[in-house]
Amino acid sequence: MGIKKDDPKPSRSRAIGTILLVIGAGFLILNLLLPQLFSPNVPRVPYSLFIDQVSDGEVARAYVGQDQIRYQLKTETEQAGEILATTPIFDLELPQRLEDNGVEFAAAPPKGNNWFATLLSWVIPPLIFVGIWQFFLRRGAGGPQGALSISKSKAKVYVESEGTKVSFDDVAGVDEAKTELEEIVEFLREPQRYTNIGARIPKGVLLVGPPGTGKTLLAKAVAGEAGVAFFSISGSEFVELFVGAGAARVRDLFEQAKQKAPCIIFIDELDAIGKSRAGNGFIAGGNDEREQTLNQLLTEMDGFAAGDATVIVLAATNRPETLDPALLRPGRFDRQVLVDRPDLAGRLKILEIYAGRVKLASDVDLKATATRTPGFAGADLANLVNEAALLAARNRRETVAQADFAEAIERVVAGLEKKSRVLNEKEKTIVAYHEVGHALVGAALEGGGQVAKISIVPRGMAALGYTLQLPTEDRFLLNETELRHQIATLLGGRSAEEIVFNSITTGAANDLQRATDLAERMVTTYGMSEVLGPLAYEKGQQNSFLGEGMMNPRRNVSDATAKAIDQEVRDLVETGHELALSILRANRDLLEAIAQQILEQEVIEGESLQTLLAKVQQPAALEAATT
Ligand code: ADP
Ligand code: MG
Ligand code: ZN
Repeated sequence: MGIKKDDPKPSRSRAIGTILLVIGAGFLILNLLLPQLFSPNVPRVPYSLFIDQVSDGEVARAYVGQDQIRYQLKTETEQAGEILATTPIFDLELPQRLEDNGVEFAAAPPKGNNWFATLLSWVIPPLIFVGIWQFFLRRGAGGPQGALSISKSKAKVYVESEGTKVSFDDVAGVDEAKTELEEIVEFLREPQRYTNIGARIPKGVLLVGPPGTGKTLLAKAVAGEAGVAFFSISGSEFVELFVGAGAARVRDLFEQAKQKAPCIIFIDELDAIGKSRAGNGFIAGGNDEREQTLNQLLTEMDGFAAGDATVIVLAATNRPETLDPALLRPGRFDRQVLVDRPDLAGRLKILEIYAGRVKLASDVDLKATATRTPGFAGADLANLVNEAALLAARNRRETVAQADFAEAIERVVAGLEKKSRVLNEKEKTIVAYHEVGHALVGAALEGGGQVAKISIVPRGMAALGYTLQLPTEDRFLLNETELRHQIATLLGGRSAEEIVFNSITTGAANDLQRATDLAERMVTTYGMSEVLGPLAYEKGQQNSFLGEGMMNPRRNVSDATAKAIDQEVRDLVETGHELALSILRANRDLLEAIAQQILEQEVIEGESLQTLLAKVQQPAALEAATT
């Protein structure tokens, strides 16, 4: 695969700009000054005076030009008369008048008195024009194709090049997607086998999945495996620079592709052009261009019918819900391949791929690392291995050890350790109790996973300390109790502050945010409220992979319902709060003990933490409820 680099050539384009400026300035000066310099200065008189002089028979001869009449006065003597000039006005009777008064007249001779200026004024504008054109071409195309490619697709053609070839073996953890794409490779290798039976080869295959799960990588692997021409372009590259260029590019891309069939066109980030045309009318302007591009794409996809050359369009997006429905219609991107985050086995395979590229110590346990990284996408795992290798190298070790992986996970999860940030003693104490609060509540309740580490070393942007809860297994479904327990755990920090210091700090803001969000989702999305029943009060967007982050818009509900929702959310959070308080009160001594210990050590993890947390007692109320 050839990675094409956009060479900006800054010095080059600046030089061209300078040259243009100089030429332009020169042209202006010439045009302004030359006529004055080269033509003799003639006194100007009003037109009315000229007419008077003609009528009085004082004018000997006149040259009538477009923008000037020059005339010579008669003299008694033999000397040449004075030459004057006037600006003509539109006067059809002038020739008649001149003739009547015996004036010798002619059209003005062409301004050839100054052939140099004339020449320049003919030569320079085209030069400037060509210069500007070149300038934009360089900027627009930036590739070896250079000139005339404004509307040419900038698709990079991947042809198999040995050595850098990506194959299906380089992609792991997305087995279903791989199976589907292997079929596509078959279509391309032996189209007849399918068409002979009368099967229609799909035209479009859409890879959908969260960022970093390997969609682009998979497309490259298809190219590598199929051994056919592979045109790759990113959706955002269509919409650029010139209005109308996007549609022209699409046309050109398909033109090129048909000549090279069988082949693959890969459009990365399809959502950049394929956004739904409906429902975003509120974005003022700028839509037409994308719409044209989209329409052209639809037209082209409809254009090549079965029996035609085999061109398969692969596209990738992480926002399938924003795509225009027209794109997903049969005959276009009728196949959708889900490229999801890998599960435990998949993560292990991906880790194996990347760990195979670094030197590993004998104690490395990739399985354990895979277990601790649910939710990581392929790109995160690749990054994780690299972080671990960097850590080992920084500590001047020859091989990457398990401890490096453990630390790399924390880095990726919680941001880099900020050693420079120092808390004062009072703050440190508060943070210690706060974090131990989370840990104790988390340990007492099920649903949040195992408390693996408590730390009061600041990390990342916001967290002053943190409690790391790691799932013991992949979970896809959580029940109501577990969610309630998560809310209680989130409130554990603040509850500890309340109990110990009898006051609240700003440190719990993020906890409260997350607890409230969770409670709201329980009520409005998961239908877990008894009062409100199993209704979804949020308008679900079709599954958005970016998930969690944004709240869906709420369905139109009556005031009473809105009030009830608020009440339920409040109750859930308040119940969680009470639960956390009761757990902490029941374990007050343990809270003190662990907090003191963490103030000394800054971090507690592993065996010693588990021994401490094993002492957590269930509050009486909870025990009664569960047994
Ligand atoms: P996407 O296009 O889905 O956002 P990419 O294909 O660009 O993700 O992935 C970025 C990088 O992460 C890849 O180049 C590869 O190194 C790594 N990666 C992602 N997913 C996988 C996977 N399933 N197997 C192996 N490597 C992966
Ligand atoms: Mg990508
Ligand atoms: Zn907290």
